[in-house]
Amino acid sequence: MGNASYQLQGGTAVITLDNPPVNGLGHALRSHIVSSMDQAQADAKVSSIVLIGSGRAFSGGADIREFNTPKSNAEPTFQTMIAVVEDSKKPVIAAIGGACMGGGLELALGCHFRVAVAGAQIALPEVKLGILPGAGGTQRLSRVVGVETAVNMIVSGSVVASEQLKGTALFDEFIEGAQSGDLLAGALAFADKVVAEKRPMKRVRDIKIDYPNAQAFFQFARNTVGAMAKNFPAPLKCVDAVAASVAKPFAEGLAFERKLFVELVQTTESMALRHAFFGERACAKIPDVPEGTPTRKISRVAVIGAGTMGGGISMNFVNAGIPVTLLEMKQDALDRGIAVIRKNYESSMKKGRLTQEALDGRMALLTGTLSYDDLKDADLVIEAVFEEIGVKEQVFRKLDEVAKQGAILASNTSTLDLNRIAGFTKRPQDVIGLHFFSPANVMKLLEVVRGAATGKDVLATVMQLAKKIKKTAVVSGVCDGFIGNRMLEQYMRQGLFLLDEGATPQQVDRALEKWGMAMGMFRMSDLAGNDIGWMIRKRRYVEHPDISYSKIGDRICEQGRFGQKTGSGWYLYQAGRRDAIPDPEVDTLIENYRKEMGITPRKISDQEIVERCIFALVNEGARLLEEGIALRASDIDMVYLTGYGFPLYRGGPMLYADTIGLYSVVRAMKGFAAAGDERFWEPAALMASLAGDGKTFN
Ligand code: NAD
Repeated sequence: MGNASYQLQGGTAVITLDNPPVNGLGHALRSHIVSSMDQAQADAKVSSIVLIGSGRAFSGGADIREFNTPKSNAEPTFQTMIAVVEDSKKPVIAAIGGACMGGGLELALGCHFRVAVAGAQIALPEVKLGILPGAGGTQRLSRVVGVETAVNMIVSGSVVASEQLKGTALFDEFIEGAQSGDLLAGALAFADKVVAEKRPMKRVRDIKIDYPNAQAFFQFARNTVGAMAKNFPAPLKCVDAVAASVAKPFAEGLAFERKLFVELVQTTESMALRHAFFGERACAKIPDVPEGTPTRKISRVAVIGAGTMGGGISMNFVNAGIPVTLLEMKQDALDRGIAVIRKNYESSMKKGRLTQEALDGRMALLTGTLSYDDLKDADLVIEAVFEEIGVKEQVFRKLDEVAKQGAILASNTSTLDLNRIAGFTKRPQDVIGLHFFSPANVMKLLEVVRGAATGKDVLATVMQLAKKIKKTAVVSGVCDGFIGNRMLEQYMRQGLFLLDEGATPQQVDRALEKWGMAMGMFRMSDLAGNDIGWMIRKRRYVEHPDISYSKIGDRICEQGRFGQKTGSGWYLYQAGRRDAIPDPEVDTLIENYRKEMGITPRKISDQEIVERCIFALVNEGARLLEEGIALRASDIDMVYLTGYGFPLYRGGPMLYADTIGLYSVVRAMKGFAAAGDERFWEPAALMASLAGDGKTFN
């Protein structure tokens, strides 16, 4: 019956959980555990039962492959399985090594005894998916490790090493110095002891919690957790559930935990967190590049251009232990680039995040050069030079001459046509876009731009490499702006229209930030440089004279107000500080522009601001899906969650649209069209048809 084995070892029935990679408690495994328990009860030769995991885990919890499927809730459910174990007439011992998390820990807590090795990873991480442990974890953990530790573990979801919980009632014995094989031997010896000594069966549910300070502690916990969790309801509910383990009899506490669990599963915040969890896994998959596609070996990387991006990009690889050769045109530019990298590491060291030794190790992996000869051993070359097609052409023609056969040639371009860049070489199959975000050593997002000729093995290689440098890699087809910036352009375009019509930059930013964006669009534009958008718009005016734009952004740039780097933009900035200070001069510029355009300003609500900006993102996202530039809606959401400060609790623009309903989104767009720019608010065909069918993006 799959997933587990049942063996008799002397008088002990050994039930081995075997569902790689982490013995996820899927339906088949739960069924097997229950039937093995029944078999052990019925067998007179059995006097004790050991539950143990195969491989390197006891159990990582629910089987994520069954999430959101009927199997996840099918009988035997977690509750049933745990009740069967806990009600056993014969002592059940959990032998814990490796991961023991979520439902896996809840199962262990249903056992009568637990033995463990040091280094086992103990956690109830459900809160990270916006829920709480729903199979007794909140009621049983506090009974064995104490209320405060339980609250900490359940509210944070963090992993705690088993040895840190030594001395609590969670563990009856540590199997010292155990290799993985010894855990079973130790558990069997322990089982014999339990039987020989006729130790009473200990059921966690029967433990009475004695905690006189309960009220004060939970008051304190609610205050702290409430302030930290802000937009997420689950952490506070975790506190409530643990509080119930103190205040209520076990059965009532269990029912209360269940009630909270069911409530949380239905919240949009939990949906958003689960969406992001699965979105992260989904974006690594490319339908026509299956697992097992051959990859190329990347043991040396070269980066061309030691500017803002080149430096950050180099740090990613050095941090992962991969040597980097950094090429510049001139010695002083190279020295400057390397000095910035060193300064970055030194600042981490000052904050205690890096040792001197690690700093030295990383700098030793970095070699500067002015000569293309030094790139001939590189397995991957990433170009991060000026954003001019002529410069890119020079670099890629040169790379085509010097790079070794099979080297991957990547461009970090934000706006240029990757297919054209690939065309500068005689090996377009080796060319790919790796679009990092600034600061490249910090930002999680990496857009992987797939050119028309990009080889599948090249794609497979960079997707694998992205994991190694801890990036969320999302594949984008070739188009102007790729996924993220193409959507951003429409969002900013709406923002400028809002200024025309009567809003101020502060009002737009405040509304977006209140709604959850990490940074309002005008503050963000000041940070990135207003000249970038200006350059793009100037190109659009020529290429697409039919598209309407507000020119207010140009007026700002014409005054040299490029943002933080020039000390002024949509806001004012004091030297060395990043606070955005509202500037009456900007208000005057906007007022004058309105007069010039004959616009009478009106009062615009925060709701209208948010809807127009966010729906502009959604509509462009739908077009990207329609055109096949993005592979799936959740990829778009991952781009916005990891690269653009979109609020995690809303799950990304596409999920957000799904949660309010595409019908309502399309209806709102039609309303905006009726009130103003009809062309802008033409709903993407895909969205209009999904809305008509009552369907969603995801
Ligand atoms: P930058 O001006 O800070 O750095 C470019 C560096 O390239 C300079 O140090 C310059 O000396 C060097 N360089 C120029 N021509 C060269 C050549 N022929 N050979 C070797 N070195 C040369 O620019 P940046 O902001 O780092 O941008 C680099 C690339 O990254 C551009 O394509 C840009 O569009 C892209 N990008 C930038 C950002 C960003 O936020 N700055 C984000 C994503 C992508």
